[in-house]
Amino acid sequence: MKTPVCDSDLKSGELCPSCEKKIAEGKITRLDFDVALILYKINDRYNISNASFYKAIDLGKVVLILTRGEVGLLIGKQGKIVSEISSSLGKKVRIAEASGDVKKTIADIISPARLLGINHAFHDGKEITKVRIAREDRADIPIGAEALEKVLHSLVEDEVKLSFE
Ligand SMILES: [Zn+2]
Repeated sequence: MKTPVCDSDLKSGELCPSCEKKIAEGKITRLDFDVALILYKINDRYNISNASFYKAIDLGKVVLILTRGEVGLLIGKQGKIVSEISSSLGKKVRIAEASGDVKKTIADIISPARLLGINHAFHDGKEITKVRIAREDRADIPIGAEALEKVLHSLVEDEVKLSFE
């Protein structure tokens, strides 16, 4: 299983000095470690050795887990794995894929709201990424618009504005 921390840390349940340093530098977070530990613990029951856990983002009520592998692998049959992670964290969990296709990642994150498209646009003289969502789906986005813009910003490394059309 790929996680942001090293395997020996998962076995011992303690962070090594090098991973501690990554946390201090903000490259990974304590939440990344917590989620990696949970996945490691449930691995023998669910056989998720092929999982590629990339990053966890705390969205308040929801924790977003980004994977560089199959989304389905971390969701599990009938959502069993998601519910395990969710009960361990005490928060709702969403899984989204963060590999090459940014559009697909964004579609996963905002689901069940539908993504109409992504455009580069100018806003206050700056180039931004405009994420277009169907107006009637506004209530279906998983988190508040502002929090969502922040998360998408960290993904696309560009300022993001949601546009409900
Ligand atoms: Zn380590």
